[in-house]
Amino acid sequence: MTAKFDNSYARFPARFFARQMPDAAPAPQRIAANGALAERLGFGGDWIAGPEGLAMTSGNAMPSGAEPLAQAYAGHQFGGWVPQLGDGRAVLLGEIIAPDGARFDIQLKGSGQTPFSRRGDGKAWLGPVLREYVVSEAMAALGIPTTRALAAVLTGEAVYRDGFARPGAILTRVASSHIRVGTFQYFAAREDTEALQLLTDHVIARHYPQAETPLELLTAVVAAQARLIARWLSVGFIHGVMNTDNMSISGETIDYGPCAFMDHYHPSKVFSSIDAYGRYAYGAQPQIAAWNLAQFASCLLPLMGEREAAIEAATITIGGFTEVFQAEWLALFGRKIGITAPRPEDRALIEDLLNRMAVERADFTRTFRGLSTGTARAEFTEPLAFDQWSERWQTRLAEERDPEAVMATANPVRIPRNHRIEAMIASAVEDDFAPFETLMAALAAPFDPAPEFAAFEAAPRPDEAVARTFCGT
Ligand code: AMP
Ligand code: MG
Repeated sequence: MTAKFDNSYARFPARFFARQMPDAAPAPQRIAANGALAERLGFGGDWIAGPEGLAMTSGNAMPSGAEPLAQAYAGHQFGGWVPQLGDGRAVLLGEIIAPDGARFDIQLKGSGQTPFSRRGDGKAWLGPVLREYVVSEAMAALGIPTTRALAAVLTGEAVYRDGFARPGAILTRVASSHIRVGTFQYFAAREDTEALQLLTDHVIARHYPQAETPLELLTAVVAAQARLIARWLSVGFIHGVMNTDNMSISGETIDYGPCAFMDHYHPSKVFSSIDAYGRYAYGAQPQIAAWNLAQFASCLLPLMGEREAAIEAATITIGGFTEVFQAEWLALFGRKIGITAPRPEDRALIEDLLNRMAVERADFTRTFRGLSTGTARAEFTEPLAFDQWSERWQTRLAEERDPEAVMATANPVRIPRNHRIEAMIASAVEDDFAPFETLMAALAAPFDPAPEFAAFEAAPRPDEAVARTFCGT
């Protein structure tokens, strides 16, 4: 193994974290090792697939240079303030410097209690571990910024959820950092300006080196999040639990709990069982992101000089979210209908299609992909609804060069559909990991038509459709 640890977070003052070793796993068994990612990080594909890789990813032996710790953070959960959250079921092993010089956090999720566990057991069960593994890797394959999955293991121990014994598991998560809006909130709430300054300097150097002031950092984070949310919408992704502790400063998608990809399109679609009021519905995600960013901005105010002027500048910057988001949304959805450089008036054309899809309960992924293969019409129970739109669309497309090629790289053929994920988990619980392997293979190149994976293109039958997803702690 050539990977080198360099643990900048462990060098922060002690109040940033609690040193914490992962629990030992009694009988670790590998489920998956991400060889390509291990190569990219400098661990090496053979190493991660070998005994030392298994030892690290099950928490049983730390590679030299690791300095395990649980990070402190706070957050707004469903709008309610929680002054202390922190890594309650995760441990940061340290940061690796990849061969190309990039820095990555290596984290075990589900490796036991920490001082931040409150009443939780600090463990994870197989279901949520596999869900995060599949969906985060699928997001990466779709080209969407995200944390990655390096490995999944069974610990050989049972964990108890809702009165049931479940197979315990650990996910090894890789992120460009795990610093969240909630990390800033933790220190802002304690009026710890020194820590806020240290954290701000750290994230500027680590993620936004072009930023020179806290305001420029805010501007950069707002832009990164606005682009990220537009990407989510462009593939029908619903995060499900966009609490401020689940929003990464780096602009990566983080914390795959009750997340889901929509089958049929509706802007108010919600899957999460705990999101009773639709706070984190598909179409609400941009507003929620802006709200979270306003919380981030308020944390930076103490570093921004005279208060009145700082509030005014921060408010303008948060206001800039909408502009970046709208531009990115138009560019992405423009490409989805074959328009390379959409004009403002093309927005109405896209929205008209989406409105018709919502009324018709058309499948999001199949309809967009079907625009370039001629099968979109079949997704509408009332084909006239599509034909009316299509006429206007064809007129506009006449001005475009090679729209088919544009659409083929903008609209995935396969997404990690909920019913597939649930079926895969049900098999894995019975010790059959073949559906997990097949699902991973099917999602690795989501834009390539692959006849052998045709079954993964199907929308769920009514009896297969998954209505609710769970946080899965
Ligand atoms: P989440 O909503 O999944 O991001 O988690 C919110 C908070 O609950 C975080 O502080 C987690 O560390 C904590 N948490 C979630 N599951 C557990 C668990 N099984 N044991 C201890 N803490 C947990
Ligand atoms: Mg979280």
